[in-house]
Amino acid sequence: MEDEIGKILIAESDIQDKVSELASAISRDYTEKQLLLVGILKGAFMFMADLCRAITVPVKFDFIAVSSYGSGTKSCGVVRILKDLDTDIQNMDVLLVEDIVDSGLTLNYLYRNLKVRHPASLEICALMRKPEGMRGAPEVKYLGFDIPSEFVVGYGLDFAEKYRNLKDIAVLRR
Ligand code: IMP
Repeated sequence: MEDEIGKILIAESDIQDKVSELASAISRDYTEKQLLLVGILKGAFMFMADLCRAITVPVKFDFIAVSSYGSGTKSCGVVRILKDLDTDIQNMDVLLVEDIVDSGLTLNYLYRNLKVRHPASLEICALMRKPEGMRGAPEVKYLGFDIPSEFVVGYGLDFAEKYRNLKDIAVLRR
């Protein structure tokens, strides 16, 4: 099983440095706002946990779960909400927290879905972004890393539900 893990793309210490940097920018921009972090499950849970602890302004939380790739590594193009928000986001300053943007389909769908609920503002924070398939995707205001078009695991990201607990982000060997 371990030989499915290829080279480390982003080491734990680099992830933590970037999380601090993003949290500083967010804390600066959301002073005196009604910040609601919305984590996209499951992949963003670890990023969300570290990010929120580094944010220094008052913050509320919610989570939304969407269908992912199943056990494959390519988006099937259909996004489905498996668990909706518990919060009424009207007049909240919503920051969507995503692990990785690939085709942009997930973000595109969620952005439009949340926008019609009339938040005071709606922005996106993503730890990683791949270069391909960003057709019409909403702008990522807080971005961690641009990475090559490879399938990565660790730090919350899985392949068939495995490897989410790795501390580094590594390339899946295939
Ligand atoms: P998109 O809709 O194609 O942008 O894909 C976004 C979602 O697909 C992410 O939230 C992840 O759950 C999943 N995903 C995309 N690329 C990867 C990857 O390299 N590793 C693990 N999951 C990925």
